[in-house]
Amino acid sequence: MSTVQAYAAAEAGAKLEPFNYELGDLPSEAVDIKVHYCGICHSDLSMINNDWGMTEYPFVAGHEIVGEIIAAGPDVKGLAVGDLVGVGWNSASCMHCTQCMGGSHHLCVSLESTIVGRHGGFADKVRAHWSWAIKLPEAIDLPKAGPLFCGGITVFNPIILGGVKPTDKVGVIGIGGLGHMALKFLNKWGCEVIAFSSNPDKKAEILEMGATRVVNSRDPEELESIQGSLNFILNTTNVSLDWNSYLGVLAPQGRLHNVGAVLEPMAIPAFSLIMGEKSVAGSPLGSPELTATMLEFCARHDIYPIVEEFPLDKVNEAIKHLEDGKARYRIVLRMN
Ligand SMILES: [Zn+2]
Ligand SMILES: [Zn+2]
Repeated sequence: MSTVQAYAAAEAGAKLEPFNYELGDLPSEAVDIKVHYCGICHSDLSMINNDWGMTEYPFVAGHEIVGEIIAAGPDVKGLAVGDLVGVGWNSASCMHCTQCMGGSHHLCVSLESTIVGRHGGFADKVRAHWSWAIKLPEAIDLPKAGPLFCGGITVFNPIILGGVKPTDKVGVIGIGGLGHMALKFLNKWGCEVIAFSSNPDKKAEILEMGATRVVNSRDPEELESIQGSLNFILNTTNVSLDWNSYLGVLAPQGRLHNVGAVLEPMAIPAFSLIMGEKSVAGSPLGSPELTATMLEFCARHDIYPIVEEFPLDKVNEAIKHLEDGKARYRIVLRMN
């Protein structure tokens, strides 16, 4: 038995308070991880506030975890005590369905999510199935690696799914926690990268993140100047946009890929898709294998989110900082 010292919300929207719980016996295929750092993602806020109606209280958030394996069950594969690993939104999958057998574990019908019906990483320890505890490359920058396990893989997977080539011209909508990581990935991928932003104050910073050019999405003339030219557009925002304008910016056979969870239905004129063989798509996170590949790519090209660090006991201040829209660009909690 192992006692976990965590921070939990007692009810929807409550401040996080110290909270202890017992992990129970270690299942044969599970690992226990001593948490070193854990990112704070918008989904943590949504879960604390029960925005999606699936939060169980007391609730321990945190799904951008990096740390060290301190216990491994007898049937754990490829990992050992002492290994540095990361865990993201998913913490287990069935390992025998068509999706798992095909390598798309993130599409498993019986996925276990790190903070749904169990406790997450705002804690000194966390548990996961071995398949979702991804080994970190030696060269990784540990304090900045946590957000790669949710935000990072969320924007990396679309590059693979969309078949984005180094010669492509691509666009990123929304330069925040997700979008700024997308700019860095696409820049190192070799693409010409257009950042869509309506905030002129951010321009210099956005160019430094890897954008080739910043286009003001609210200026029809600027949009007109790149009409029909982008092979791929990644939307990281969760608000309704003028979808038809963005479809107009796509080149024939281009793809508008969504990772921002827009709650309203998207109004897409069929002719805007039909005439240029264009597509609209979406995706959640990515597989364990792709996550490992992404981590190597990050270590090789020095791609990391821009992070602000808070100690775990300042978790409520960190959450307020994120809620107020002040995070530049991801927040990471440091365990002591
Ligand atoms: Zn997340
Ligand atoms: Zn499965």
